[in-house]
Amino acid sequence: MKKTPPTPSALHLSKGKIMPDSINRQFKRPKRPQRSVEDWITALRSGDRVALSQAITLIESTHAKHQNLAQAIIEGCLPHSGQSFRIGLTGTPGVGKSTFIDGFGQLLLKEDRQLAVLAIDPSSQMTRGSILGDKTRMETLSNHPNAFIRPSAAGSSLGGVAQKTRESIILCEAAGFDTILVETVGVGQSETAVHSMVDFFLLLLLPNSGDELQGIKRGVMEMADLIAINKADGDALPAARLARRQCKNGLHLFPPKASGWTVPVELCSALEKTGLDALWGHLERYHRHAQLKGYWTDHRRQQAAYWLEESLGRQLRQLFDAHVQAPYAPLKGAVLAGQLSPFEASRRLLALFLEHQGPKK
Ligand code: GDP
Repeated sequence: MKKTPPTPSALHLSKGKIMPDSINRQFKRPKRPQRSVEDWITALRSGDRVALSQAITLIESTHAKHQNLAQAIIEGCLPHSGQSFRIGLTGTPGVGKSTFIDGFGQLLLKEDRQLAVLAIDPSSQMTRGSILGDKTRMETLSNHPNAFIRPSAAGSSLGGVAQKTRESIILCEAAGFDTILVETVGVGQSETAVHSMVDFFLLLLLPNSGDELQGIKRGVMEMADLIAINKADGDALPAARLARRQCKNGLHLFPPKASGWTVPVELCSALEKTGLDALWGHLERYHRHAQLKGYWTDHRRQQAAYWLEESLGRQLRQLFDAHVQAPYAPLKGAVLAGQLSPFEASRRLLALFLEHQGPKK
């Protein structure tokens, strides 16, 4: 057999040619002009997506300078926020959340809504955004001009990540998004965090939820305003119907919701895009219901109070940790060994902390 000659590399140099120096030593990266806070707000208010992405990056930054700027931008955006419908979405990995967001999102866009999709994924500490990180998960949506998709922020604590998402909601609203979808993986405490920042909480379950229901924590079921059994298509339809009945029975065990809302249980197929209209119908109905009852604003005020407490608690703890790091481990050791009571240890740590703060001037 005839051997094909090796293809010359693209970097192959023809004889006799003088190649220019590939590095321009005179080149200086132009400095990006610094935006004033007013400029940031104007850019956001005009719906500038690039500015929105950059402002969220500032929120996520741990740099003190970025943090200060981010806080000033958030303050400036606050008067222009609060008008959106904030929807939380949860479900175990594989239940079909991204397929659902893609399909449901398209339906919302057809209704002329502007949709922002944010995520909370505490595990993204390691992977820098394992959920939503891959844009191909919501291909149709991510290419739409009226949709904005942002992966989960990375952070050292769920509280920190959640706060960043909550602040991002404010910026998205100021940028004109009237529907915000906050996704979380159905594991751990992240549902509680999402629940504390949304108006409506949607839980996706699988058709085989007989076992599934056992796995889903009671608390998550209790938080849901709407339950959708996804993948209700093909051979799974009978199982989905059964799951729906079981789920409805299970809901009777919970106390009535403070909003006075009865939680519907529906079937849907994110893949075949069936049942999604009915779900949106429930969301619209809830919006009218909660507004009428005055629950909408009450709930938002409760959430603001919660975040004040949460943020204060976390900042105090950070301050504390930064100053009493050294004596913490030996005192904890003494508590675990039964040599010291936990109360006495915490009293001593607090005394050390206060000592460190010094007398007030
Ligand atoms: P996530 O991990 O919750 O985001 O789930 P994905 O959206 O990535 O979906 C996991 C798998 O389930 C994928 O292979 C999807 O194609 C499939 N899937 C999602 N929704 C449906 C549905 O409604 N019906 C069926 N049959 N499969 C679905």
